[in-house]
Amino acid sequence: MRPAILFPLFKPVTALPGLGPRLGKLVEKLAGGHVVDLLWHLPCGVIDRRFSPKIAQAPNGRIATLTVRVDSHVAPVNPRHPYRIRCTDDTGVLELVYFHVKGDWLAKQIPVGSTMVVSGKVEWFNDTPQISHPDAVVPLEARDEIETVEPVYPMTAGLPAKTLRKAVRAAFADIPALEEWQDPAWLARRQWPTWPDALKRAHTPEDEADLAPTSAIRSRLAYDELLANQLALMLVRSSQRRLVGRVTQGDGSLRGKALAALPFALTGSQSTALEEIYADMAADARMLRLLQGDVGSGKTVVALLAMLNAVEAGGQAALMAPTEILARQHAESLAPLCKAAGVEIGLLTGRDKGKGRQAVLDRLASGELPLLVGTHALFQEDVAFKDLALAVIDEQHRFGVHQRLQLSAKGRAVDVLVMTATPIPRTLTLTAYGDMDVSRLMEKPAGRKPVQTVTIALDRLEEIVHGVRRKVQEGGRVYWVCPLVDESEQIDLAAATERHAFLSASFGDRVGLVHGKMRGPDKDAVMAAFAEGALDVLVATTVIEVGVNVPEATVMVIEHAERFGLAQLHQLRGRVGRGEKPSTCLLLFDPHLTETARSRLKTLRDTEDGFIIAEEDLRLRGAGEVLGTRQSGLPGFRLADLAVHGELLAVARDDAKLIVDRDPELATPRGQALRTLLYLFERDAAAKTLRSG
Ligand code: ADP
Ligand code: MG
Repeated sequence: MRPAILFPLFKPVTALPGLGPRLGKLVEKLAGGHVVDLLWHLPCGVIDRRFSPKIAQAPNGRIATLTVRVDSHVAPVNPRHPYRIRCTDDTGVLELVYFHVKGDWLAKQIPVGSTMVVSGKVEWFNDTPQISHPDAVVPLEARDEIETVEPVYPMTAGLPAKTLRKAVRAAFADIPALEEWQDPAWLARRQWPTWPDALKRAHTPEDEADLAPTSAIRSRLAYDELLANQLALMLVRSSQRRLVGRVTQGDGSLRGKALAALPFALTGSQSTALEEIYADMAADARMLRLLQGDVGSGKTVVALLAMLNAVEAGGQAALMAPTEILARQHAESLAPLCKAAGVEIGLLTGRDKGKGRQAVLDRLASGELPLLVGTHALFQEDVAFKDLALAVIDEQHRFGVHQRLQLSAKGRAVDVLVMTATPIPRTLTLTAYGDMDVSRLMEKPAGRKPVQTVTIALDRLEEIVHGVRRKVQEGGRVYWVCPLVDESEQIDLAAATERHAFLSASFGDRVGLVHGKMRGPDKDAVMAAFAEGALDVLVATTVIEVGVNVPEATVMVIEHAERFGLAQLHQLRGRVGRGEKPSTCLLLFDPHLTETARSRLKTLRDTEDGFIIAEEDLRLRGAGEVLGTRQSGLPGFRLADLAVHGELLAVARDDAKLIVDRDPELATPRGQALRTLLYLFERDAAAKTLRSG
């Protein structure tokens, strides 16, 4: 349960002054629904209004606050022209300029003959300084109100900046005096402020330097968040390990048969990963291991051998894929090897219903069915194993810590192996999988051909279609990916449908279309037609739909490649180059693309090393997007920026480890404060693993 001292921070934002239901919604969209979310919404700029020159000394382009006499109002004859107010001091003339404003209102606000304090950006036109639409105009008595330093926040349309500033200021009253959770020596060494102090100062920057992510204020806040993240993962890990493990050690008989049936030898990385996995499984503790490897690095066969190890030892094993299509493909590609080993493998997806499904469930429960492949349908309550020893999760960022826990609860001391296809930078591995050990497949299987990558402007579509036709005539098959334009599937679908029609004009009925809105069986039928060669070109809306293995596919066309993340593009590219023939990846970009965006795509052209691409992706886009936070439910960071605070993350990890070693139940005074930290960052699930959580 969330400690009471945090309640004020978790009030709805509408509890703050000035935020009614309408503006409250906008704040919610911008920052989040709770007061604490608004406090995490840090300024991105600062306006210093303390600079108060005389008119003649006010430099062009700078924000200034000036004390002036109002001389005259000049209403325009033509209403399209601006309304001007002439002001002076003893050094010169300043014009206030207003477009589309009623003169009578201004005449009342800024009366002729009065002395006013005006603040805004001064711009010089034809030797006359002017301020158009001043940020503030107040009578002399109120000058203290505006001669200040103002934070500037990332905004959303319809929300007045002043309202937001006021709400944040009011939220200060809700910042509780929490006990310090950081190690005092570490705080002193870094010269970091206390948490309430850091938070308030983050919202009251004095200058640009205060906004730097490396400032003491921001570093402190970032570190709090990173520590909460690492501590949460560490607690989940230790609670998993505390559960009794099981010793799973097969005799090698089934694995021997499968290996003998493999048409290739394992790579060095595959063998190393397997040794690590077998050792974990044989140990009397739970395995929690991440198998990380680029697309096509051969994770599936590693998974299968681990699963056979479980079966040899008398247990069952399950492999869970993120989508229906991938689950089916896994089942199909594993079938021959399972057959060679003499082991049956079942399939269970959301689409299986009725008697067929019941038969699978019965045979799972009786232990008759040793291996199962499926989708998240495996989570369903009526799915019971006789003795699940190993759960393999082909994750691809679509499941989070939660699901890992859920699946491992399906058996007694289940070992868990998570496979991820996107090479994740080291720093991100820590934040998302800090609870796991890591094996990495670094080598590509022998015989893999490089993919030639070309970037082309979309306005050369005719040429591109011509090239694609040539490839098809040579017997190649082509993926044509249309991007996710925005959240709206309808719009994406329209774009893909249109492209499908356009290509059909060239390729006739040998063009197929798959998209997320199709019914499963229809989708499968199109995929199958493409795999069999009944279709030459496959137009697809999303990344997922092309997560299949078609060795004859030699061309990958990606439209509006600039809208994808680099790692995503890399993963798509990995769908070609799987067969004998040389392959090509065409990255089509918007011709109006900026130079920076273009050079981003060049990274992809220049390397096929997924880890280099992943690091670059992180540098360019930030952590949330690389991990696909939104789809996955993985932790996103509000205050920490991993591209900048990577070093702090490593410290947080060591810190968390030490804490959990010394004070596993967070019972000491610092431990109690750390519990509050976990709730502050909504790591409730981790806090609940504690005995008196
Ligand atoms: P991943 O799941 O890592 O993307 P897969 O397991 O699907 O990769 O493997 C891609 C292809 O490489 C498959 O056709 C697989 O049979 C093949 N493969 C796997 N390991 C090897 C190896 N050691 N040598 C040659 N080919 C391999
Ligand atoms: Mg795979």
